[in-house]
Amino acid sequence: ERLVGASADHEEQAVEAALRPKDLGEFIGQEKVREQLDLVLRAARARGATADHVLLSGAPGLGKTTLSMIIAAEMEAPIRITSGPAIQHAGDLAAILSSLQEGEVLFLDEIHRMSRPAEEMLYMAMEDFRVDVIVGKGPGATAIPLELPPFTLVGATTRAGLLPPPLRDRFGFTAHMEFYEPAELERVIHRSANLLDVEIDPAGAAEIAGRSRGTPRIANRLLRRVRDYAQVKADGFVTREIAGTALAVYEVDSRGLDRLDRGVLEALIKLFGGGPVGLSTLAVAVGEERETVEEVAEPFLVREGLLARTPRGRVATPAAWAHFGLTPPRPSTG
Ligand code: ADP
Repeated sequence: ERLVGASADHEEQAVEAALRPKDLGEFIGQEKVREQLDLVLRAARARGATADHVLLSGAPGLGKTTLSMIIAAEMEAPIRITSGPAIQHAGDLAAILSSLQEGEVLFLDEIHRMSRPAEEMLYMAMEDFRVDVIVGKGPGATAIPLELPPFTLVGATTRAGLLPPPLRDRFGFTAHMEFYEPAELERVIHRSANLLDVEIDPAGAAEIAGRSRGTPRIANRLLRRVRDYAQVKADGFVTREIAGTALAVYEVDSRGLDRLDRGVLEALIKLFGGGPVGLSTLAVAVGEERETVEEVAEPFLVREGLLARTPRGRVATPAAWAHFGLTPPRPSTG
């Protein structure tokens, strides 16, 4: 697993649980989302009603699971956590829905990866708090209507555009989560350091924040690696120098690029004069699969303005050259 990868495995999720903000006030950044969600939840509480269904869209590691837990906490409701890939049959969904308590929050991660029949069952459940359970097979099959208690669905997806419009339209509130600013990540790091009993100065936090790719999950992960280094190699106190040296050991550079990212850019610049070069050729030069270059390395490089995908192939931008202390050749004329 990549140190700068945005998703978490099971083990990491357990470590992360200790770092989750417990209410909206503790949740850092995402001002607009927080303000809007605060209104939605307050209004529902004042009416003594269950909150509207909420759709959270945004990249992995930005706090969607955390927000769903906060929604439940703010509504003083229990929460059930599942994901689209875990629901392959409509029956799986029916079993979950029919066991919900009144007001419960159902968090459905990767909602765009649910099966079609489950999705259609969800439409009705969201709108009418009802499902039709199909009993039997073939011509003898019958649909038994089942009333559900009112619940709040919190759906999460990497892109709201991946959802079929009928599903998207059934959410009362949609929030788009943005990548975090460095200053916000510094606050995340100070907060986590505090919870983990790590001493860190502001410059140390800034150094980690700058390498965290706008993502709290990565910030927390880098902090844990830096803590290890500080304990073993120094007195445990994290300064800019300690953070920088530690992350250099892990091959995460000043902008949060790792070995793969740098390999792609370096090949582009040093072997192909900055491009344009086709994806397959580039992948062979890096010694990786096409998919790895395209899906693992490129999205962040494109987002950072270091690499451009053009109709003629991949191009290193002037910022990419500058990142390696190089000057792009002057564009040829004629
Ligand atoms: P997602 O569900 O979007 O993949 P998570 O909610 O699991 O992301 O968040 C990943 C980690 O980052 C968790 O440890 C969480 O506590 C932390 N985190 C995310 N957003 C914030 C935030 N706004 N403030 C503080 N910590 C955050």
